[in-house]
Amino acid sequence: MTLLFDPAKPVLAKTSTGEDFPVRRVYCVGRNYEAHAREMGKDPDREPPFFFTKWADTVVPSGNAIAYPPQTSNYHYEAELVLAIGKGGRDISAENALDHVYGYATGLDMTRRDLQFAARDKGRPWDTGKNFDQASPLGTIHPVSEVGHIDSGAIALTVNGETKQSADITDLIWPVPDIIRFLSELYRLEPGDIIYTGTPAGVGAVVPGDTIVVSISGLTPTEVTITPPATA
Ligand code: MN
Repeated sequence: MTLLFDPAKPVLAKTSTGEDFPVRRVYCVGRNYEAHAREMGKDPDREPPFFFTKWADTVVPSGNAIAYPPQTSNYHYEAELVLAIGKGGRDISAENALDHVYGYATGLDMTRRDLQFAARDKGRPWDTGKNFDQASPLGTIHPVSEVGHIDSGAIALTVNGETKQSADITDLIWPVPDIIRFLSELYRLEPGDIIYTGTPAGVGAVVPGDTIVVSISGLTPTEVTITPPATA
């Protein structure tokens, strides 16, 4: 076999055991906290959850700088609990869902809010608002064997030390077992898939020079600093 160019290397997330977690797909849940649904101008009625996706190579390990992305002037943070799938399956019941979780991490669903809203208002896909280079900072993944299942506890985000988002994991409209149930009806989940579970209220814009920290009780924080736009 002769390849025309070098294939992309696997995207590797850090785990607390020192082993690397190869990321296969990135799924995200939209509007999964009531107060955030309201700040997005939507009623948080309990419709089934909806999902969008990002490329695996949008994942950036915590501790790195990320460049302010092109074609936006409203670049937002979204603090999220991230779950990592360790066992695949299709049509997984909520009762069995937690058996499929390898572990949990903190993460950021970075968003070009102006592009997302422009697409939303025209009934177009969200891709350019959500799925772009370096859009998915991710903290260390902690296995369930170490931290148990994360179904409660504080979730918070600071920008330059100032608290911007503060909520509790119990505020999730659809908790982890239901997320896995609904998502696995749409796609066969596989080991290496990660799922961003939605963000609480308080989203806002950042600019180059800002440092963002996401903390969730029991997990290692995600920390990134925004740098000026890339030029090459
Ligand atoms: Mn989000």
